[in-house]
Amino acid sequence: MLGAMQDWNMRVTHVIDHAAREAPDREIVTRWADGSETRTDWAGIRRDALKMAQALQKLGIKPGDKVASIAMNHSRHLVSWYGVAGMGGVLHTVNPRLFEDQLEYIVNHADDRVVLYDAMFQPIVDKMRDRWPQVEHYICFDSGEQTTAFEDWIGAEDGDFEWVQGDERDPCMICYTSGTTGNPKGVQYEHRSTLMHAMAGLQPSAFNFSAASVMLPVVPMFHAASWGLPYAGAMAGIKFVFSAVNDPAVLHEMMIKEGVTDSAGVPTVWLAHFQYCDKEGIDLPPLRAATIGGSAAPKFMIERLMKNGTRVQHAWGMTETSPIGTVGGPTHDWDHLSFDEKVAKTMKQGRPIFGVELRTVDLDDFTKVLPRDGEASGALQIRGPWIIKRYFKADEDAVTEDGWFNTGDVGILHPDGTLQLTDRTKDVIKSGGEWISSVELENAAVGHPAVAEAACVGMPHPKWDERPVLFVVKKEGTECDADSVVAFLSDKVAKWWLPDAVEFVDDIPHTATGKISKKDLRARFSDYRLE
Ligand code: ADP
Repeated sequence: MLGAMQDWNMRVTHVIDHAAREAPDREIVTRWADGSETRTDWAGIRRDALKMAQALQKLGIKPGDKVASIAMNHSRHLVSWYGVAGMGGVLHTVNPRLFEDQLEYIVNHADDRVVLYDAMFQPIVDKMRDRWPQVEHYICFDSGEQTTAFEDWIGAEDGDFEWVQGDERDPCMICYTSGTTGNPKGVQYEHRSTLMHAMAGLQPSAFNFSAASVMLPVVPMFHAASWGLPYAGAMAGIKFVFSAVNDPAVLHEMMIKEGVTDSAGVPTVWLAHFQYCDKEGIDLPPLRAATIGGSAAPKFMIERLMKNGTRVQHAWGMTETSPIGTVGGPTHDWDHLSFDEKVAKTMKQGRPIFGVELRTVDLDDFTKVLPRDGEASGALQIRGPWIIKRYFKADEDAVTEDGWFNTGDVGILHPDGTLQLTDRTKDVIKSGGEWISSVELENAAVGHPAVAEAACVGMPHPKWDERPVLFVVKKEGTECDADSVVAFLSDKVAKWWLPDAVEFVDDIPHTATGKISKKDLRARFSDYRLE
């Protein structure tokens, strides 16, 4: 027999209804690409989302249909998150930095019927239009010189609309991985998984949002659902400040002017902000909290933010995990730790939030589960209600028989649950039967005063199977040689980890999400041989 509590279909429309009811006039500020600014609020976002849902229905869009967005962070993009979900559709947030072939593949693979886009991406639309035969409508978030303008389109509706109901397990968003191996793969987030993920993200040991929070998310809305912030923020009724450009000068100005307390972005975003402040001779903005994820937050970054009085929330996750898996918040013994101990803890990737479970398994034998002893390093697996089960249109599940998703990351679990990421399974270097972490070598190398960027890959070796080779981009105006880099590393990693060669290069290839692309680096040096 069932219990006797009320039914509450876990649809994301509850989120926007709540925000509009409980925090109607909490502001949503946008700085647009042309330098102008607009202000709306949660009531306004809901009103426009209702109009948009109506307008989509008029176009003949049905529940389950896909609507693509090729857009930066702004209030109209936020409206589309709730407007599409509110009429039962599925929003496909497209990363505009993907290569043309990938853009062709994902929009066709997702069967997108409508494309919403920013005017700055008009060149993409012009180039891709013929290659996206099933797209029926193009709507421009800006003025729409070439097509319908978003504001005109929704402006024709009265907003008298009831959210379309459906199953809480229906999809509401689809995100594609950036496809570092093979074609990008689609991950369909459900209404329920999205809601649960956002609720978990609110907790003090994750985003720690309150009604007083003012968040400027630098992480794009097309990158793993902007880490769920647009949903979690609505639940807490926070103020959002969006910038449609990622220029550090603009971000800085908005942070100061709008009283931003929280921000989130990948390490390169923070690095660009540091460089801007140094160049201008100004202080970092007085943020309460900075979430850093997507790749490992380097030590100097954590130190500088912490000295600025900013709590650093180092998070780990991936598109397949909605994306939050772990977040590093203060631990129970935090107040008793020295500054250096706090930095050392924050360099690790934090602890699982309620709802997800982690385990590591032996890299050579995935059936062997490793102890959480802070030493054993293995393939990281995860399970939980917002973790992928099956990629979009795949024939088979992406999980083991007992329901674990293999992340492709390599890590160590500590007894207190802390995750320490050491590498990706395809990048970890196997030397003489032992594993070397390419990431640890890279992180150590970027501490060298003349090293701007470093990437380490395992190159075939006649005796040891593979040996590390470090590719280095020098900082402008500095000089160094291979010996100085190796000498610098020698007291930071085990002796047998030291790279067999250091190669200086002009640039290191990156993926569409700004990460080092080792696949492209390996391809570039496919003839490379170690003696
Ligand atoms: P893509 O591979 O498309 O860029 P994701 O953003 O989903 O997509 O990337 C997820 C991967 O990013 C993780 O599997 C992990 O390797 C890496 N990653 C994410 N957060 C961190 C972190 N805090 N430290 C180190 N690596 C991270």
